[in-house]
Amino acid sequence: MTHTTVAAYAAQSPKAPLERVTIPRRALGEHDILIDIKYAGICHSDIHQARSEWGEAIFPMVPGHEIAGLVAEVGPGVTRYAVGDRVGVGCFVDSCRGCDNCTAGLQQYCTGEQGATLTYNDTDAAGRPTYGGYSTHLVVDEKYALSIPEAIPLDAAAPLLCAGITLYSPLVHWQAGPGKKVAVIGLGGLGHLGVKIAHAMGAEVTVLSQSLRKREAGLKFGADHYYATSHPATFEQLTGTFDLILNTVSANLDLNAYLGLLRTGGTLVQLGVPENPVSVEPFALIPARKSLAGSMIGGLPETQEMLDFCAEHGILTEIEVIGADQINEAYERVVASDVRYRFVIDTATI
Ligand code: NAP
Ligand code: ZN
Ligand code: ZN
Repeated sequence: MTHTTVAAYAAQSPKAPLERVTIPRRALGEHDILIDIKYAGICHSDIHQARSEWGEAIFPMVPGHEIAGLVAEVGPGVTRYAVGDRVGVGCFVDSCRGCDNCTAGLQQYCTGEQGATLTYNDTDAAGRPTYGGYSTHLVVDEKYALSIPEAIPLDAAAPLLCAGITLYSPLVHWQAGPGKKVAVIGLGGLGHLGVKIAHAMGAEVTVLSQSLRKREAGLKFGADHYYATSHPATFEQLTGTFDLILNTVSANLDLNAYLGLLRTGGTLVQLGVPENPVSVEPFALIPARKSLAGSMIGGLPETQEMLDFCAEHGILTEIEVIGADQINEAYERVVASDVRYRFVIDTATI
């Protein structure tokens, strides 16, 4: 048999609602595992791509790169996993394995000819379209799966595979910790995990949200301070404050205003990927040696490190579990910033 057919939810074209479909999954190769997917998180990137907001996309599209499940079958050469193991898959399912970045465990920045193979909206080395986690099963090379610690329930674990690592990696890289003032812009899926992780690392954490509506939750997640960016006084009060600002907002912001909140030598890391380019005044950076940086998810070793860190520190995603028939409604609520704080699909409902 060359493949099996499994159930999934797909967008057939940009802006079309997602609907139930069947898709092929490749036959198990030597080093492949078959994952019985239990939960798939809804990342705002799923919406950007399903709606073709990032340029040309591949349809039909089965989104989903926050995947948690159980190993159901293993190929003959599999050594890391056994049937029944708790595993996760994030934003990529393969990479060249030979470039400097792959060798260093930074597979997300693979510089091979095709770059990393994304979990969906991409084609694999054999030229087949890839389909994501809004489905019942996934076949993946064991090297590109992560082990989910027992301490983290599978539903709360799924969003760590993208949202969790996307915040963990820059927090480690820019050395968030005791004595560092870190601000997180946007208290959504990414942002709320950023607050929890930065707090666990010992940093002094500030949330910069559009309003004070989610203040109580933000403080409970570990924020020390919470400000509404809709209050002009916020920008005056916080001028020159932060060592590190993580921007998780999915829409375009006036970055110049936020750069003003950095102290000398501080860094603003762009994590959100709005549809339109951002513009920056040279004088927002130059007079205080500030940096504007970007960061994308994390490599396999760091993703495992993040899962273990979250298990050790009791960090769980705040989730709302939904059935597959609620995906389209959930998309609308995410776009309206009405998510507390991650929708997770129970794939048994597909
Ligand atoms: P999300 O759950 O929708 O959170 C985004 C938050 O941004 C919202 O909850 C809201 O927080 C704030 N926001 C939304 N619209 C805004 C606006 N017009 N003005 C000001 N603030 C606004 O989305 P997510 O899943 O966390 O993803 C966030 C972004 O990161 C997306 O663009 C996604 O594609 C991107 N992403 C990047 C990576 C990476 O590797 N760099 C990985 C995953 C996702 P408040 O209500 O608190 O203001
Ligand atoms: Zn994502
Ligand atoms: Zn590579």
